[in-house]
Amino acid sequence: MIEGLRALFGGRILVEVGDITDFRGDAIVNAANSGLLGGGGVDGAIHRAAGNELLEACRRLRAGTLREGLPPGQAVMTPGYALAVKAVIHAVGPIWMDGKSGERKTLRAAYENSLAIAAEAGFRDIAFPAISTGVYGYPKKLAAVDSHAAVLGFLSRSALPERAHLVFFARTDAKIFLDALAEAGVGPP
Ligand code: ADP
Repeated sequence: MIEGLRALFGGRILVEVGDITDFRGDAIVNAANSGLLGGGGVDGAIHRAAGNELLEACRRLRAGTLREGLPPGQAVMTPGYALAVKAVIHAVGPIWMDGKSGERKTLRAAYENSLAIAAEAGFRDIAFPAISTGVYGYPKKLAAVDSHAAVLGFLSRSALPERAHLVFFARTDAKIFLDALAEAGVGPP
């Protein structure tokens, strides 16, 4: 079950808590790694819930157009297989180094390129995990400001997707997100 916590930007950005593999809508975004062949965290959960066909689809991408893997900041779509969504959009976030290695630009690109794929596919509802904030070590408050800016910017320019659902696994992470926006003066208190 995914629980709604807060609606921002006239209901087009929704802050939610739960397991993203439970999402019912058009697509979920996977915080993938460049190899695309699965991993831990949300990536592992998505592959387990989607079934082996997802891994096979990713293997085909690696054998075809993505021989070198998917570079950080980019995104690619596969079907959703056993998930309750049409598609999985695999996006590669930055590994946090020192904050001076293009991490912020790369995180924004990962969100924007995912949204562009969703818009092109005609999707209305897409769900994001908090890309790069787990094993990749991106500071959560900064990720809040940067992901929100990327999503808000894109949705301001595009009617599709209609809604971006930001799904946090932990309630405490959703709170960090909302508090960071309030502190930065870009969201409601
Ligand atoms: P990254 O390598 O991009 O940091 P992780 O999977 O390690 O990716 O973590 C990204 C975020 O996804 C973390 O905030 C983590 O709590 C969250 N997460 C892990 N599992 C799930 C899940 N099933 N649904 C939603 N979010 C999840």
